[in-house]
This record gives sequence, structure tokens and C-alpha cells, in this order.
Amino acid sequence: MSTTKPPNVRPADDLGIAEAAGVLAQSGTVAVPTETVYGLAARADSAAAVAAIYRAKGRPDFNPLIVHVLDLAAAEALAVFDARARSLAEAFWPGALTMVLPRRPDAPLAPAVSAGLPTVALRVPAHPVMRAVLAATGLPLAAPSANRSGAVSPTNAAHVASSLGGRVDLILDGGSTRQGLESTIVAVRPEGGWSILRPGPITEAAIAGILGPQSDGVTSGSARIEAPGQLASHYAPGKPVRLDARAAEPGEFLIGFGPVAGAVSLSMHGDLAEAAARLYACLHLAAEAPEPRIAIASIPDDGIGAAINDRLRRAAA
Ligand code: AMP
Ligand code: MG
Repeated sequence: MSTTKPPNVRPADDLGIAEAAGVLAQSGTVAVPTETVYGLAARADSAAAVAAIYRAKGRPDFNPLIVHVLDLAAAEALAVFDARARSLAEAFWPGALTMVLPRRPDAPLAPAVSAGLPTVALRVPAHPVMRAVLAATGLPLAAPSANRSGAVSPTNAAHVASSLGGRVDLILDGGSTRQGLESTIVAVRPEGGWSILRPGPITEAAIAGILGPQSDGVTSGSARIEAPGQLASHYAPGKPVRLDARAAEPGEFLIGFGPVAGAVSLSMHGDLAEAAARLYACLHLAAEAPEPRIAIASIPDDGIGAAINDRLRRAAA
């Protein structure tokens, strides 16, 4: 594989979207902005296209991908929805919620998309560029975050270009993403019960408001197999990370929050939505800074703070 090829970045306008649809139809890979982070899209019905995603990311093949579709009707062609899954779709789609559901035996999906699991992870995104790409291809698109496996997720096209560069066929530049943290992943189990596999912009409380309290009804051993991608170390900026810092120690690049001022701040006003949107951009800046270590101020665990702290723990692991 050539890694010396320069990145192919295009504005996410009508021309760029048409080019993206052509690349995807040919089983190529395209980085596309969503409301969460940039995704690396490829057609989910093609084994070759799905293999190209795993190859470009250097992703282990036991870690399944999220499949993006335009609407609930398209999602129902791929997975079995019960009343609970439909009510979550009605409440949160389009948006930053991914549901893990039983895969339909006749679903037109390459088996590698869900790494051989009997389930599939589905999302209906809200971002106009991702929706335009889905509409132009008319296909379900697998799209994990557009970064090398285990590295910090991309929230702008330059992050994608520096992580994946010429390993992908096309990068659509649609500016910075608005929410900045990956979707919430919820498993809705056919035998009853549900649980959060990855915290994200849609909080556990918001889901519990619709489904009632979280109850997984499975042993912790099988829960671990169910969330194969939730590795302890992820989002790694390539330097040691110290959490709950009040001030920078020598050799540290401090990422501040609220009253803790740093070289950069997640949010000077202590706003958690702003902190989520800025988290990965700040981690990219810290990774590129001359300081050999990173320190990060403490973040309250309320609302989307729980998802920010989940990512920070993995970045520090
Ligand atoms: P990313 O590709 O970075 O957005 O991560 C996708 C996440 O979705 C990974 O953590 C996967 O483990 C998770 N995922 C995808 N499909 C499934 C599935 N069928 N069951 C459980 N988790 C899944
Ligand atoms: Mg990822």
C-alpha cells in the first residue's frame, strides 16, 4: 500500500458529493463529516469496500463497524426493530444515537461489517453532508471514525488528512463537526433489557426517559464480548496523559476547563457541550505541541461530561 500518496481533499459541495458517490459506488473509501466526528465511509454491502476501511484504519477485524442509513425504513431492512427500538428511533433519529440490534438474515451487508456478530450497529445521521452522500449512493454506508485505529478521532478535514492521508480515496471537507464526540451506542436486546455500550452525546438519562432504567440482563462476561471495540486504550495522543490536573507541571501541555486555565481550554466558561465539541481538536494540538506530556483539567461527570470522561480515561490508559 502506498502511504506517500497525497491526501485528496475536496470541499463538501455538490461537485464533491457527486465525486464521493462515484468513489463509493466503485467500492472506494471517502471521509465524510457527520455531526459527531468525521467518518470513513464505504459501501456496507461490499466485502471489498469494507475490507478497505479496515485496511486504511489498521483496525483489528474483531472490531465491528457502524452502518449509516438515511431513515428508519432503510434501517428496518437491515435489522429487527421491536417497539422499544422504534421509539428510540423516533426520539433520537436523525442524530447521534447508534442502536445495536439483531441483524436480519437477509440484510444486504458484508459479514465483516459486524465482525461476524449476529447483531448490527445502525445509525441515522443528521449532518447534511453525510445525508447527501447517503442519498446520492442509495446504499447503507459503513463508517467508523476516520482515523488510524486507536488514535484521536478527527473533528475536521485536516485531522483526517494527517491521520489517514492518501490511504483513503477522498476526504470531503465540511468544516469542523458540531458535537465532537462519537455517537452513543445502545444495545437493545430482543430478550429484554438495554445497556449503553459507549457513552456519547445522547445521555443514559435521555434513553432511560424512553425505555425505563438500564438493565442488561446478561453476565458481565458476555457484555464484554458484545462491545468488542471498547478497548481500554483508545483515542491515544501518543504521549502520557495525566487527568484531573489543577496546573501544568514542567514538561506538560495543559488542557484547561473552567477555572483551570491551560495552554488551551476545552471551555473557559465550563460549558460541557463546548468541551465535547473541542475535545479532540485540543488533543490533536497537545499531540503536536513540543511538551512531552499532556495534562487535562477535571471535567464534571454530568450529562455529556460522562462521555467526555470515558474518552479521557481511554486516552490516558
Ligand atoms: P467507531 O468505528 O470508531 O465509531 O466505533 C464503532 C464502535 O461500534 C466500536 O466500538 C464497535 O465495537 C461498536 N460496534 C459496532 N457494531 C457493533 C455490534 N454489532 N455490537 C456491539 N458493538 C458494535
Ligand atoms: Mg473510532
